[in-house]
Amino acid sequence: MVSFKCKDIGMDCTFETTAANVQELDEKIAQHAREVHDIPSLDKEMWIKIHTAEK
Ligand SMILES: [Zn+2]
Repeated sequence: MVSFKCKDIGMDCTFETTAANVQELDEKIAQHAREVHDIPSLDKEMWIKIHTAEK
């Protein structure tokens, strides 16, 4: 299991999610970014931050 918290990348957001693997987790994060943060696609820099925050 891997997990991610939006606030770990400095967002003022209480979103937390878990998934069976990183690929699944990335999909959930991308969906959350689109729906809640209005970010249609995360750039490379954001993904680096996200992957660092995933545990
Ligand atoms: Zn968020």
